Amino acid sequence: MNKVANYIKSLFLWELILGLKLTGRYFFAKKITVQYPEEKTPLSPRFRGLHALRRYPNGEERCIACKLCEAVCPAVAITIESEQRADGTRRTTRYDIDLFKCIYCGFCEESCPVDSIVETRIFEYHFEKRGDNVMTKDKLLEIGDRYEKQIAADRAQDAPFR
Ligand code: SF4
Ligand code: SF4
Repeated sequence: MNKVANYIKSLFLWELILGLKLTGRYFFAKKITVQYPEEKTPLSPRFRGLHALRRYPNGEERCIACKLCEAVCPAVAITIESEQRADGTRRTTRYDIDLFKCIYCGFCEESCPVDSIVETRIFEYHFEKRGDNVMTKDKLLEIGDRYEKQIAADRAQDAPFR
């Protein structure tokens, strides 16, 4: 019986009709393709993009060179050197993140006791020269300064879940 049914189906190109039916359904359905870069999908406040170092509102850098982020980084991407300042506080003299090593896991920002190292929403960046992959302290602070408003808003939105 099955053989007869299959024979009749093949005569009427049944599989082809089923395929065309599916094509037709998607042809008229609402398109969900995002026309990047003109269109972008929404990002979570927890999005883990390019890193930044933050400052307090008075301009003082938050990082106290505790090196927790360096210790927790599974990719050994962070290198920190530090020294004590004249006022007795400790600050970094070097804070590098090698983005070729980084796996954007977010452990560094989770480990930071003073909300200094964070990952921003920035995901569109590129390197043009050898060495550009190393984010230095100056570059990280500059990103932090430029995007502080967005970073602070994201941290506030995410605070209940931390
Ligand atoms: S995001 Fe993860 S891999 Fe990248 S620097 Fe931070 S801890 Fe290391
Ligand atoms: S960024 Fe945070 S965790 Fe890393 S050394 Fe500075 S204070 Fe410590």
